[in-house]
Formats: sequence, C-alpha cells, structure tokens
Amino acid sequence: MPEETAEKEEEVIRWTERELRALTPPEGITVSEWADKYRVLSARSSKEPGKWKTERVPYAKAVMDAFCDNEVEEIVLCYGAQLSKTETMMNMLGYAIHQDPGPAMFVLPSEEIAKSFSKNRLQDLLLSSPPLRERLPASAHDFTNLEIILENMTIYLAWAGSPAVLASKPVRYVFLDEIDKFPPFSGREANPIALAKERTNSYQGFHKIVYASTPTTEKGNIWRQLQSCAVIYRYKVPCPKCKKYIYLDFPNLKWPDVENPGEIFGKVYYECPRCGHRITESQKGELLLKGKWVEYERKGPGRRKIGFWLSALYSPFIPWDKLAYEFLTSKEDPSLLMNFINSKLAEPFKEAVQKRDENDLAVWVRDYEPGQCPHDTVALTAGVDVQRDGFYFTVWAWTTNMEQWLIRHGFARNWEELEAALFGSRYLVAGTPVKIGRVFIDSGDNTREVYEWCWKNMGIVYPVKGRASISGGAFWKESVVEKLPGSSLKYGAGLRLVNLDVNYYKDDFWRRVDAGKVFFHKEVDQEFFKQLLAEEKRRVRRGNSYVEAWVRVRKDNHYLDACVYSLAAADHLQVRFLRPILEQVRPQPIGAEFSNSSGSGWLPKKKGWLR
Ligand SMILES: [Zn+2]
Repeated sequence: MPEETAEKEEEVIRWTERELRALTPPEGITVSEWADKYRVLSARSSKEPGKWKTERVPYAKAVMDAFCDNEVEEIVLCYGAQLSKTETMMNMLGYAIHQDPGPAMFVLPSEEIAKSFSKNRLQDLLLSSPPLRERLPASAHDFTNLEIILENMTIYLAWAGSPAVLASKPVRYVFLDEIDKFPPFSGREANPIALAKERTNSYQGFHKIVYASTPTTEKGNIWRQLQSCAVIYRYKVPCPKCKKYIYLDFPNLKWPDVENPGEIFGKVYYECPRCGHRITESQKGELLLKGKWVEYERKGPGRRKIGFWLSALYSPFIPWDKLAYEFLTSKEDPSLLMNFINSKLAEPFKEAVQKRDENDLAVWVRDYEPGQCPHDTVALTAGVDVQRDGFYFTVWAWTTNMEQWLIRHGFARNWEELEAALFGSRYLVAGTPVKIGRVFIDSGDNTREVYEWCWKNMGIVYPVKGRASISGGAFWKESVVEKLPGSSLKYGAGLRLVNLDVNYYKDDFWRRVDAGKVFFHKEVDQEFFKQLLAEEKRRVRRGNSYVEAWVRVRKDNHYLDACVYSLAAADHLQVRFLRPILEQVRPQPIGAEFSNSSGSGWLPKKKGWLR
C-alpha cells in the first residue's frame, strides 16, 4: 500500500499547473455569475473601473446567460448606444475561455478596428481578470497579433475579407460586432457574416454566434438578423405607481415646450402610458433592476436563434434629458435625425415609402411644343431655383380643371437671361401671346440680389423661403421684409416674402402626377426627370409619431424646387378661381359671334349636368 501511495503522489506532482487547470471541471455557473465573480474592468477602457457588476446593467443578465443555454445557438443584439453591448460580448468570451473553451473569432468592421480592439479591449479583458491572465502563455503578450494563442484556445481577430474570415479554420465561437458598419460586399465575394458562420460548422450543436450592432436601415445586417430570430425580446419595467410592466418608448418621453433645446435639462420625465405617472430619471436604476425581458415578437418555434432589442432609453449612462436634447437638436436635419434614430432609438431608418423612376413621369409626355399652352389655360406661373452659377426655372400653364402643363424649363446664367426667358419669350394660347402671372423665386441664397429683382418686378415676382412646416396648418404664409439686407434702405411698404411648407408642396406635386394632372412637352429631357426624382419620401420618427419626410437621394434637385415654387405660385395666385385667359383678354363677344358661341367653337360650353 505505501508503494501505491508513493506512486500516486508522484503522479500528482508530475502534473503541471496548466494540466491541472485543464482538468478543472466547469464551475456550473452562468455567464452573469462568472462576470460578477471574475470580470474586472480596467481604468484604461472603462469609465467605471473595478469589478464588473451585472446589477449596474440589469438587462445584460439574461442576455449573457443565453450564451450558456444549450438550446440557443445564435444571439442577436440590436442595441442603441451605451448599453454595454461590447462588454456583454467580452463577458461571454471570458466565460468561454475560463469555463468552456473552444476556438473563437471576433469579427469587426475593418482591419484598423480589429487591431485596435485587440490592443485595447481584448488585452484588458485578458490581463485584468485573474483566471484569464493565467491562461496567457508567459511568452506571448503580443496584442498586435491578430491571433491570440492562449493555453487552451485561440482567439482570431477578423474583418470582412481578412485571412481569418476567408481561411477555413474551424471556430466554435463567433462574435460579430458593429455589423452594420461592415463594408458592403460585392456579389462576387462571399458575405463575411455567412463565411464566419460557416467556420462553426464542425462545432454543430455546440457553437455560438453573437451578432451585435446599432441598426442603420431595414436592409442593414443587424435588422435582417433580428428579423430572422425565432423570438425577439424587449425589456419591460414596472411603473412605480401602477406597477404595470411597460416598454420604454421614446414617444412617452415628455418635456415642456421650450424656446431653446438647452432649457429642457432637468425637465424631462417618462410618462407611464398606463396611468400617466411621471417617472423621473432618478427612478431609472430601480426600474431597470425590476425589469424583465418579454417576448415581443414570436416568429418561429424554439430558441435556436434569439434577438434582444434595446434602445438607449434603458441606458444607465445616458440621462433622458440628454436624449431629448439630442432629438431636439437633430430633428430638422435628416442625417442627424437618422443617426439619432439608429444609435439612440436602435431603430432602422425606413427606406423610401414609394420608389419612382423616369417611366412614371415619361407616361405624361404629350405631343406639344414648348411655349404652347392648352386652350383652356387660366394662368401661367413660374418657379426659379437660385444657384451660385445661375437659375433653374420652370414655367407651367394651368387649365380650368387644374391640370398643369410644362411650357418651358431651362437654366439661365444671369438675371438678363432669366428675364429674357420668363418675360421675353412667347407663350401662346391658341396663337394669342400671354404673360406669366406669378413667379416664385428662392431667396435662401443670394438674398439681396433676389430681393432687388423682386422689388423691381413687384406684383408678379415674389421671394420665397422654404420651411419644413408652417404654423397654424397653412401651407404658405407671408411675412414682410422691411429693409434691404445689409443696409438701412427701406422697401417702402415692405417686400412680401412667402414662406412655403415645401414638404406639403412636394407631396402635392406627386399627388398631382399620380392623379394624371401633370403633363410635359415633347422636348422634355431625362435630366429634367432625374432632378424631379432627386428626393424620396421616407418614413422617419419625429416627435410623438412617425412621419414621412423628403430626403435627397441625388445631388441635383433644382428642377424639383423650381416645380414646387411654380405649384405654390399657382396656389398663391388662386388659379382655381380664374377663368380661361382667352375669356379674360377677349373683348366682349358681339353680334353673330355671340349667338354662335354656345355649343360650338374651340371652347364649347358645357351645359346641363355641369352647371
Ligand atoms: Zn403607471
């Protein structure tokens, strides 16, 4: 017996520390328990260094624990900013290294980002948590490598097109971060996300794939991954007053009307949609602790692929008033608004409401020459878009049944050419020359010269200013300019400036196209149509609801603006109440002509059913 003992002792002694660690069975703990026990955040990469505390970001618990759920193979995190998304993944990786090793791959948007990620966040993870540091071979602390070889597993750093993605090394764990920032891949190359996923094939049933990003559009990677989940979870929190579990949605964030966005700090609260209670920022921490993930959308059976959808309203690091402030300062600018919707609300920016192309316009081309107006024309209006190098203009004829016919369009290099085009051209109604009744010209640029020209042609030409909306439900509203800009010279009784709700008139223009009320002469060109199509209607979040807004998709939209101004000019001139020009200019019909005019001639009078 003593011999046997000696032999056993000898055997034990021969085991290295490394071998011992390899023999240590997993502790049977979850990722969140592991993180609370072992994860340490370094001062270098965390604003709150020290021991990781899941209670600081309570929603992360179930997300992390899904990683050690045998049924779950793929996890999608569609998150807003500052919700500890990447840290959540780092905890999963740390757990894998310590508790359930296997080759892992971290895929990032670019080589540069992958290298910086390795040097900073990955290094911090491995060096600051003791059980992970022990697994680093003493010799290899080189974090400039794109392969981190640990005692028990390898971590590959990858990006779209990188060797690690393209090579066929099997991996068990794949983490894909900021996947909406991945460069678009061409048809010939394979999708880096699909390639990374393929790497896990030999670990079928044991592999885990984690996708994370703030969204961009509905066609973006993270939104498509989220929509392909069997179930999408959202976090619900209990209202402190009525105790009902509610989602935190941006429209319920409330603040008083303020002159200037800077004044809302400290005045923002969350209104419970069930009882109207005002929940304050100071209650957020408690709310999050008592919250729970609930099935928001069930798309298929089981839990093989699950998604977590979370907005920055839940972030303990971004106060609600800061979110409201960001919204107020970005809502007028489509690109800032898109960024707010994506990175804070974690919602995709909606694609175009309705796609149109040149063919939708080409069907309305009719066989008439430029300059020729329909017989029942009631007025001509023009719109002018001002550019640094000249003017884009359109002239339209309006008929008794409110059709609009394009009479002329073009580019004038200077004021003389513009005047010649608008006032010197022959516009004919049944051979009779007619004049333009109203011209709207953009005064946003080159304001002083535009005002001077309007002053000179007062009564016909009006300066306009495009607005996103006009108060009081009107589509245009006049204001008075008293002085010439940059001088004390007064414009007599003042110059009438017309403020336009350009969004309304863009809508109206396309409504008219769809209704068959807009026609183009036979010499209209593709460039003209392209410019009309330069903006698309998209659905975006604004205030308490979704609204559709016009977003520029091509650089040149000058003819679109010129059309919008012509349309507004027709409204301003009240063309719907006008009689045909030929009736206006013709002398009173006399004698035989008068008696013959009913029921025959070029403009037959309709009687009976149409008063
Ligand atoms: Zn309530």
